[in-house]
Amino acid sequence: MDESKNITFSFIVPLYNEQDGLELFYDRLVATAEALNEPFEIIFVNDGSQDETAVILRRLCELDFRVRVVDFSRNFGHQIAVTAGYDFACGRAVISLDGDCQHPPEVIPELVARWREGFEVVYTVRRDTKGISRIRRGTGRIMYRFIRWSSGADLTDQADFRLLDHKVVEALRRTREHARLIRGLVRWLGFRQTSVSYVAQQRTHGKSSYSLKQLAGMSGAGFFNFSLRPLRIVPKVGGVLLTAAIVYAAASLALWPLGKTASPIVHLIMAIVGLFGLQFVFLGLIGEYVGRIFEEAKARPLYVVRETVGFPAETQEEAESGVSPARSEDNPVTIYT
Ligand code: UDP
Ligand code: MG
Repeated sequence: MDESKNITFSFIVPLYNEQDGLELFYDRLVATAEALNEPFEIIFVNDGSQDETAVILRRLCELDFRVRVVDFSRNFGHQIAVTAGYDFACGRAVISLDGDCQHPPEVIPELVARWREGFEVVYTVRRDTKGISRIRRGTGRIMYRFIRWSSGADLTDQADFRLLDHKVVEALRRTREHARLIRGLVRWLGFRQTSVSYVAQQRTHGKSSYSLKQLAGMSGAGFFNFSLRPLRIVPKVGGVLLTAAIVYAAASLALWPLGKTASPIVHLIMAIVGLFGLQFVFLGLIGEYVGRIFEEAKARPLYVVRETVGFPAETQEEAESGVSPARSEDNPVTIYT
């Protein structure tokens, strides 16, 4: 327990069927980590691999005391695996990266340098996507565009390759929504953020295990979880239809004395338009309640504290962990060490 307090860097690595490239990845990561000259731990999260990944991990664990393994009972998906990594990490800085060498460990010293300058979030942006198929690049681009429209956040070419200060990790642990896009949550949390760009590498072994379904799930989380903008389209459409019908009705009434009225069929169509408009407006009203329930159901922290100044020591510690004293009693945050 105490020993874990001295760890400077936690590396968290989600793995799904990575038996072929794992040892090479481990060697590269350890070489980079050792060059940092600070105590570190490597947390591998085995996301229900069906190959020999678990066996290799057990061996690495026996050989290297800095390796820890979180072995999932089944495949829970990449974002959940990374989340588990954040839950178990105890370093002062936590660096997440993929285990397929697409996020070159050699970039890590640069992330660390930014952290030492005082940045609390150092995320990465892919500069070159050569190693990624055209279809994946295309779908990714569409996904980011939709997310940007919905939430205003530009997450283009970001992956789960980032460094977070332990304060940010503690705050992130308090977001427990199931459908999650960690890069969106990290942006939402705030703190002092900066980015580093890198050239994405080709996978050393195997192929991407990301299915289109998983990608769709992630896009969905990015699209829906950060604003109610998509939901608010419905009443807007309703408003337009209803207004059109009202204007038509008013014009028809005004022109009636002059004997200039449209045919009954147009009246009928406009009446239908008006009724649909009215329905959409009320649907939007219900949607607004649903949206508010959704916002509450996510149970995100109301605010995130970087640090407090001038409080008695006890309160200060609790507040810095981002957990208000009242909340910590009835809703403890589980921190695994
Ligand atoms: N991964 C995981 N669970 C999954 C799918 C992938 O933990 O269900 C891991 C995988 O082993 C890799 C990282 O997440 O370390 C990224 O996955 P992948 O390379 O398949 O995605 P891509 O790089 O194509 O986005
Ligand atoms: Mg990959």
